Amino acid sequence: MKKKKFKTTIICIICITTLIHAQQTVENQFRRPLSDVLTEISQRFGVHFTYNIDTVDKVLPYADFRIRPYSVEESLSNILTPFDYKFEKQGDNRYKLKPYEYYRRTVQEGEKMLTYLWSLYPDKDKWEERKSCLLQEVREILGIDSLLAKRVSTKPLLSKARKFAGYTVRNFAIETLPGLYVAGSVYSPLSKGDHPLIICPNGHFGGGRYREDQQLRMATLARMGAVCVDYDLFGWGESALQVGSAAHRSSAAQVIQAMNGITILDYMLTQKNIDKKRIGVNGGSGGGTQTVLLTVLDDRYSAAAPVVSLASHFDGGCPCESGLPVTLACSGTNNAELAALFAPRPLLIVSDGKDWTHSVPTLEFPYLKEIYRFYDREENVKNVHLPDEGHDFGINKRKAVYDFFASVFSLDKTQIDEKKVTIEPEEDLKIFGRNGELLPENAIRSFEELSVYFDKKRYAELLSDLSLEKRATEWVASLNLANQTDAAFLTTLIYNHLKTVKDWHNTHPYTLIPEGINPTTGKPLTELDRQLIADSAMPKEVHDKLMSGLRKVLTEDQVEAILDKYTVGKVDFTMKGYKAIVPNLTEKEEATLLSYLKQAREQAIDYKNMKEISAIFEIYKTKCEQYLNSNGRNWRQLYKDYVEKVKAEKAAQQNSNKK
Ligand code: ZN
Repeated sequence: MKKKKFKTTIICIICITTLIHAQQTVENQFRRPLSDVLTEISQRFGVHFTYNIDTVDKVLPYADFRIRPYSVEESLSNILTPFDYKFEKQGDNRYKLKPYEYYRRTVQEGEKMLTYLWSLYPDKDKWEERKSCLLQEVREILGIDSLLAKRVSTKPLLSKARKFAGYTVRNFAIETLPGLYVAGSVYSPLSKGDHPLIICPNGHFGGGRYREDQQLRMATLARMGAVCVDYDLFGWGESALQVGSAAHRSSAAQVIQAMNGITILDYMLTQKNIDKKRIGVNGGSGGGTQTVLLTVLDDRYSAAAPVVSLASHFDGGCPCESGLPVTLACSGTNNAELAALFAPRPLLIVSDGKDWTHSVPTLEFPYLKEIYRFYDREENVKNVHLPDEGHDFGINKRKAVYDFFASVFSLDKTQIDEKKVTIEPEEDLKIFGRNGELLPENAIRSFEELSVYFDKKRYAELLSDLSLEKRATEWVASLNLANQTDAAFLTTLIYNHLKTVKDWHNTHPYTLIPEGINPTTGKPLTELDRQLIADSAMPKEVHDKLMSGLRKVLTEDQVEAILDKYTVGKVDFTMKGYKAIVPNLTEKEEATLLSYLKQAREQAIDYKNMKEISAIFEIYKTKCEQYLNSNGRNWRQLYKDYVEKVKAEKAAQQNSNKK
């Protein structure tokens, strides 16, 4: 039975493909829509796809010639490469289709790269030459020295110290570039004497540096005897007050974060209780990538521990990790080689089985050991691998970090007891107050003000995204929600919707829609008509996601208030117009008109600008007027009467003014 069905399917596919082949010739370059080709691949090889790519309007020349009947993966490569797309195997017969990711390679490619790199330095001298090349070029690519030269040196802002069991916490803000502040917290041991210092750049874990596992780690290391400092990512936490959170997606984030790490270390080394010979750096995920970068830029570190970040085949996908082409230094490098520059100083790599660091024990760690062998210090590089764990900074990863710093900095291991740590509420870790009310007078308030340090053109797209973010923030603020988590969720939800609408609009110009006639009016389609058609093809999920998200946390009145923000109060404005024009509007008439206008409003939010939003309202206004006519009213006459009435009133007004 099963076999028979299979046979019929095969026959059908043959029918369809024969039909398709008949329509294809060299004259049309054997073109087929990409979506059709992918559907065929899925049927032919019995595989399923998850789409993380846009196939709309994508047409593939020589389509069927790219298919290899013996290999789904070779076929996919041939089909996807022309569009800069790729696939990722996700299990038996399942593939995820993704855009090309310049910062991610396969493990096999990572291995090839390490073999190649290793061939460049047959001895320690050649390695040292390579090292000086990398140390210099990474600085140049980042542009870090020119940025460091523009720093100001004002007195840091400090909060009062809060005392807990065995440690204190004090918030700080340091002005880096004029008006730009980096905020963070210093966790210090209660004991007297010189302490080692550990700088802790943060990653992208939810909750930023305020989250519980971060506080546990900082405080425990302080209880063990080290002064620990953490600080916001650029555009996160209190930095978002200054530059907005979208600024984090700029390449500026990478160099500004590096500057922050260097500046905080400069400041901490002016403090009396710090032992300059014991300076560590430790962070997880994106914070691990920054950990490695800081060791490359700053030779004051004596121990480093990147956690769940290091791999030869992944540079980190956020612009704060790979927004600048650091891994193109000296004809190509990767994070494993950059970490190797730290040899022979103590280095701990923490990896796990469920993210890209799964390859560390067999690939990156053996490579690092070989480099350390140049210095006869193989024992100074360590790997704690947690094969059953995933991408987080959980207890076993923190324990690995405690053990490492206890051993290299002679910390007190008897104090490793996280139960002794007090978790503080987020606002207590802020220096600028709950809502940023204590931001200094001179503080910059937009990313744009920073563009004097960077090429403004490079950030044009980002700046326009930031303006969307500002709109989303203001709209949500107008609701005065008590729950800040809901407010943050809504801001992201609305921002994502505005951005998707904008991106769709910008990638689907009216020229995609052929010239033609409007079948209702018989008139040629205008540019606006064609643009509306192009925009209306945006997938419905975009709209549904916004609406269901709004309804999840808001009352119906609040949802309407947000939709009114999108459409600048057009429902109310238009309704007032009808009330003025149509005398004695009945309750039923009013309800019907209102329901049409609300439909217009909900449809209009998926369009980019006021011109388009007005055009959508026009469609529904016509409906409203047709309804009035069918309800015994004469719209045209009513409108005419109204215009005349207004004119008469105006004239009377002018006359009385003259008098
Ligand atoms: Zn980032």
